[in-house]
Amino acid sequence: MEQTFIMIKPDGVQRGLCYGYGVWMVGKFGKGTYGVSGGVIEELVKLDESVLGLQVGDIISRFEKKGFYLKGMKFINVDRPFAEKHYEDLSAKPFFSGLVDYIISGPVVAMIWEGKNVILTGRKIIGATNPAESAPGTIRGDYAIEIGRNIIHGSDSAEGARKEIALWFPDGPANWQSSVHHWIYE
Ligand code: UDP
Ligand code: MG
Repeated sequence: MEQTFIMIKPDGVQRGLCYGYGVWMVGKFGKGTYGVSGGVIEELVKLDESVLGLQVGDIISRFEKKGFYLKGMKFINVDRPFAEKHYEDLSAKPFFSGLVDYIISGPVVAMIWEGKNVILTGRKIIGATNPAESAPGTIRGDYAIEIGRNIIHGSDSAEGARKEIALWFPDGPANWQSSVHHWIYE
């Protein structure tokens, strides 16, 4: 099964688009990794100060409802070198430094999603890079206006997904299997 890296960018977090309904994610600013499986929060023992309850909603539920599996989730701030590494393929672009400023402007929700064709299908769920060209019904088409405030990231290839998952989740994905797998996949 394929895996992809999906990230709700700082504007998606700030606008409360991930505060709809769905599973609860409990995290901590700065550091910490907390897996969510089947709505059950794992590794609560790691929590200490600055605990926040974030109701992860509409964006994430689209991936869940489709039949993809959440295999990793973090709510974190990244620093400039980390954001530059994530977007290193775009380092020659004129918008690169503004893009890095944007990604480090607040916490992001970083995720691993797994499923058949999840890389390409995830890009379709997200929509075109420029929200002006994203079809209604896609995440960017429904929620965003500007290319530099397009609220979500998704890996664009198998190689990109592998690199991004390794960068953001060096400990690898969470280990769980959906009990309804055979009702989704034949
Ligand atoms: N971006 C931008 N201006 C542009 C092109 C891209 O600000 O002209 C930003 C935008 O936030 C985009 C990100 O850079 O999501 C990465 O660009 P890419 O071409 O990889 O688009 P994506 O894969 O996110 O659709
Ligand atoms: Mg890209």
